[in-house]
Order: sequence, then C-alpha cells, then structure tokens
Amino acid sequence: MNKIRVRYAPSPTGYLHIGGARSALFNYLFAKHHHGDFILRIEDTDVARNIPGAIESQTNDLKWLGIIPDESMDNPNPECGPYRQMEKLDIYQKYCDYLLEKGYAYECFCSAEDLAKSKEEQLARGISSPRYDRRCLRLSLEEKEELKAKGIKPAIRLKMPHNEILEFDDMVRGKMSFKSDDIGDFVIMKSNGIPTYNFAVVIDDYMMKISHVLRGEEHLSNTPKQLQIYKYLGIEPPVFGHLSIITNEAGKKLSKRDHDIRQFIAEYRKAGYLKEAIFNFLFLLGFSPEGENEIYSKDEAIKIFDVNHLSSAPSMFDNKKLNWMNAHYIKNMSSDDYLKFVKNFVLDEYRIISPDKLDYLLLLFQPEIKAASEVNKLLDEIYHPHPLNDEQLAFLNLDSSKIVLNKFKEKVEKLANFSKENVNALFKEIMNETSLKGKFVYLPVRLKLTGLEHGLEIYNILYALGKEEIYCRISTN
Ligand code: GLU
Repeated sequence: MNKIRVRYAPSPTGYLHIGGARSALFNYLFAKHHHGDFILRIEDTDVARNIPGAIESQTNDLKWLGIIPDESMDNPNPECGPYRQMEKLDIYQKYCDYLLEKGYAYECFCSAEDLAKSKEEQLARGISSPRYDRRCLRLSLEEKEELKAKGIKPAIRLKMPHNEILEFDDMVRGKMSFKSDDIGDFVIMKSNGIPTYNFAVVIDDYMMKISHVLRGEEHLSNTPKQLQIYKYLGIEPPVFGHLSIITNEAGKKLSKRDHDIRQFIAEYRKAGYLKEAIFNFLFLLGFSPEGENEIYSKDEAIKIFDVNHLSSAPSMFDNKKLNWMNAHYIKNMSSDDYLKFVKNFVLDEYRIISPDKLDYLLLLFQPEIKAASEVNKLLDEIYHPHPLNDEQLAFLNLDSSKIVLNKFKEKVEKLANFSKENVNALFKEIMNETSLKGKFVYLPVRLKLTGLEHGLEIYNILYALGKEEIYCRISTN
C-alpha cells in the first residue's frame, strides 16, 4: 500500500475556526495513526477575500494545538510544492491548456450580466437549478478571435459529459452517486488566469500525492466535479471522506452569528483554555470511540483513530462539555505548571499583589475555574468590593452587625496571622461575647469586606486583603 498522505488546506480568508481545526485534527490523526504524512497547503486563490495575517495565525494556532505538518510552506518537499496556490499559477495553466487541447474544456466569453440574464430566463421557464447554457461552446474560431480582438479575456469551463454517473465510496458516508447532467459546465480558470477551487484542488492533491481527503460536508457537492477533472486528466483520485456538520445546541449548523459559542481557536487561547482540552474536545466532535471514556491524550487519540468511527450525523458543539473538559485538565495540572500557565492571564492590576499571596490565591482557584482568564473575576471579587444593595445595607445597620464589626476590628489587630485556626477562634470569641450566632457574626464581616454574601472562606479573604485594607474597608461607611 502507498504511503498515507493527507492534507489540511485552509483558505486564508479568516482565522482558524473550530470546523477547520477539526478537519485538520482528523487528517493529522489519520496520518499519524498510519505513519503517514500530514501536509498543510494554503488555498489562496480567492484573492479578494484573503486577509492579512491569516496564514501566520492559522499556522500558529495549529502548532499550538500540536497539529504539526510534515510538509508546508515552511518545510516544503521540493517534489511536491509549492504549498501555496498563488505560487503555481503556471502549473495550473499547463493543465488547463491540456484540457482545452483535448476538447474537455472550452473558452467562455460571457459577462456576469449575460450569465445573470440566462439564469433568470431559465428560472422563468421553470428550471429550478439553472446551468450554464453552453452558448460559448457553439462559437466558431472566427467569433472567438473577434471577441479576443475586442479585449475580452475568456474564462475556461469544463465540459461535463452527458448522461454519466459519478460515484465514489465516501469513508464516512458510504457510496455516493451523482448524475453528470445535474452539474453544469463549471469554470475551472477565471479570465484573470487564476484557477477556481475545484480545479486547483485536483492538481494540488495529485502533485502532492494525496492519498485520502477528509474534509467538511460542505464540499460534498464539489467532489463529483473534481472526479470529472481526474477522469479527463487520466489520474487516480484520492479516497474521499466528508465530515459531519457541527451544530449549535439548537441543532442548527454553527454560524458566525452564534455569539455564545467562541468559534475561533485564537479566542480559546486568549480565554485560557488548554491545548490538551481543545484537542480532546475536537477529537470527540464527530469521532465516537468505544466505551465511555471521554478523556484522551494526543497519543491515545492517534492510537485509536479509525475512520470507521467517524459519525455522519451532525455533531453538537457542547459548550458545557468543553468547559468541563478544560476544568478537568486544569485541575489535573501540577501546582507549578498551573501557576506558570495561569499567571499569563492575570491582569496587570493584580500583579502588585505580593508573589506569595498571588500564588496562594491562584492555587485556591485551581479547582474552581473553567478557563484561566476566570481568575481575574475571582481576584476582582476580593480586591474590588461589590456595591451593597438596600437589603444588605439594612443588615449592616442592625445594632448586632455594628457590635460584631467593632469587635472584629479590635480583635483582628491582635491577630498574629490569618490562619484558619486563628480566624475561627476570633469568630468564636465574638460569638461568646455577644451570644450572636452564624450569619449574624460572619455576614457583617463578609459583606463589609467584599459586598458579597458568598465566596472564598473568610480566612482566605482576610489573608488576601491584609490588616491595613481590612481596617480601611471595615471603617468606611
Ligand atoms: N480551501 C478549502 C476550504 O477552506 C479546502 C477544501 C478541501 O479540503 O478540499 O474549505
């Protein structure tokens, strides 16, 4: 069997999206499971939609996830490159000339207006999926020369055969079959000499010796078009597999408008998700392993990856599961690794906290947080007291609360340190001296210090604030 070679082929029209990252991951796992090669190719022929920085950002995010290409723009195999489509226009032209010469493709001089008009006419005649009417196929040589003399540059269309079936065995969906008559003569080369996606992808996959293609379901209808090009060129197509769509919780295809789901890998990095958690989560987005286990390392994922376990049913993006998973990985980090990781997310304003104290607090948060950036909210609860509502103010105005706060102030001054034992003893004393209990003793202090009714254990809050700040907060009205 030939070496397994797969690719991830993003268009630099945006940053690394969850769907793209999942395609990259499955291709990577497939390659690594079979000791094959994973290739990163940049499909940048949609020039108007390319955005600056997208290639670097996509490459970096893949690297961050541990999805490292064996071949790419940075690490090319001279036999298979270039790895960026706009660098090989002359190669596409050569293949296009061949198809023209063989009569498998033809020049089309129609303007966008001509095409729109023909589409309208067909719709008016009740044709529900209008196709190119082939008017340029009937042009004589002279007519074509005349049009060219007028400066009109033709696009090139593939001539679809009549009454043929285009079939393939999809790795995820099984046998797929399309009628050639349902596919119009599509453009393979635009009039500006830039190939369309369906054409360039065939030449690239062939030149890069790609053995298998795993890509999103949205490309399913492109596959028969590509198969016809393979046929005309007399070359063997790769084995195709089309991954299921990713949906939101309502079962709708994930769209950029779903604002409650972060859609880009960069957003997860910024919010403090761990690469291990994202990797694990993406792995289960369309892959169903045997058994109940949901936690997989990269090595385990490589070991068990099997295309037969890819699901053709839509995969729901379960935010709660992702957060659970990230919390799981955070909880399981060693204290040192956790501190190193989480400190990158601490806002500048909290960097004035003494290093020991900051470490202590961050470690307290380790079992609580779902993502590293959440430590700022927890620090905020300590260092920026929350405004009190009327009910809380009324509670603090009770005589009992005033007595407790005065006693607390006196006693805290004498406290050697804020150990759990010392602080508990202090509250016990107040209880004994006042006969007050429970919330009448603890709540005035907690509210006065933080403005919140719940949160960290009180001795931790006292330790975090220190005596000076405690006085200050207890004394203000
Ligand atoms: N550039 C295409 C995309 O971003 C890749 C499609 C393919 O894998 O063939 O969707």
